[in-house]
Amino acid sequence: MTWKTLDDLDLSGKHVLVRVDINVPVEGGKVTDDTRIRRIAPTVADILQAGGTPILLAHFGRPKGKVVPEMSLRPLVPALETAFGAPVTFCADCRGPAAQAAVDSLAQGTVLLLENTRFHPGEEQNDPELAAGMAALGDIYCNDAFSAAHRAHASTEALARLMPACAGRLMQAELEALESALGKPQRPVVAVVGGAKVSTKLELLGNLVAKVDHLVIGGGMANTFLAAQGISVGKSLCEHDMTGTASEILTKAAATGCAILLPVDVVVAREFKAGAANETVPADACPEDAMILDAGPQTVAQISKVLEGAKTLIWNGPMGAFEIEPFDAATNAAARKAADLTRAGSLISVAGGGDTVAALNKAGAAVDFTYISTAGGAFLEWMEGKALPGVAVLSGG
Ligand code: ADP
Ligand code: MG
Repeated sequence: MTWKTLDDLDLSGKHVLVRVDINVPVEGGKVTDDTRIRRIAPTVADILQAGGTPILLAHFGRPKGKVVPEMSLRPLVPALETAFGAPVTFCADCRGPAAQAAVDSLAQGTVLLLENTRFHPGEEQNDPELAAGMAALGDIYCNDAFSAAHRAHASTEALARLMPACAGRLMQAELEALESALGKPQRPVVAVVGGAKVSTKLELLGNLVAKVDHLVIGGGMANTFLAAQGISVGKSLCEHDMTGTASEILTKAAATGCAILLPVDVVVAREFKAGAANETVPADACPEDAMILDAGPQTVAQISKVLEGAKTLIWNGPMGAFEIEPFDAATNAAARKAADLTRAGSLISVAGGGDTVAALNKAGAAVDFTYISTAGGAFLEWMEGKALPGVAVLSGG
């Protein structure tokens, strides 16, 4: 796929409508984690540098097509100004006369933030009329919201059809990182997939077994695979109605030559709480009254060995209930191993997913990964092999 970037368009004197994802956590009117804001700063800087004026379009929360004052983007203005080092003005609508007036009075070197696109019902309906209202405000469209690209919404899809369109720097970085990791990857490729449930990652697993050389399955979803092999998992999180599906994935893996690594030993406890009394047992020896909350040290050693022999790693989903100690041990150890190998130059490592990023940050490993995607759903859908509407439209799809 090919798409235009900011380098391919003349931005001088142009109003550039930039779709961004600044759906950041806010508490008491203050931004508590500005990661997503910092990630779009290069795009804003490059547009300003080229003599263009960035006009930001974004959603915030799920107001479901109504004006919900608590979901206004206005409180983000100070955090944006800090990240951009430029004045940011705000307009309480993303189309119409007020927005037009705000655009008309924009000074060069400043940025305009328009109100939550989801205050209009047409946003989530991909309404061409809403898109036309937004298009009237600018000359060029730039999508820098990879994390919203799996949704065909007015500001991510219909709008891109109405004006010259390009990918922003963050979108470019996400696509390039994912392409190089999975498009034409350096082999062997290892996928580490964990998390709570098989059901939420079924298509991901199905796509990966056809593409990767090793698939490490951990977390709660590994229990379903153990159960599929007739192993009792006691009181563990397990989707017993998904064991047939799990067996099919194992069969497909055997057919495609994808080696599956399931836990060989597990950490079990009677309570789901921090510091709960626990023991390490073979994967087929979970007591009836206990639950599996993490992979054991032998499993970690096997994962490390697979990582040592790999050239590319794609990771989604923690290996255990990483939020509560000591059940973060396997996730931490595997993450640090991947980080060490990446730092040493022998591994390309890409990770994504809300909880995954939190887990890798907690392990202190994220900084060494080759690329960490800020996208959750879009990252997964891309890995599932799906075309993302917001990306496809940039490539003329
Ligand atoms: P991501 O957001 O990165 O896609 P998921 O949401 O799929 O990841 O999975 C994360 C959740 O899985 C975490 O809340 C974690 O506690 C849970 N989890 C992992 N292993 C287990 C387990 N053995 N038992 C119960 N929950 C688990
Ligand atoms: Mg999650």
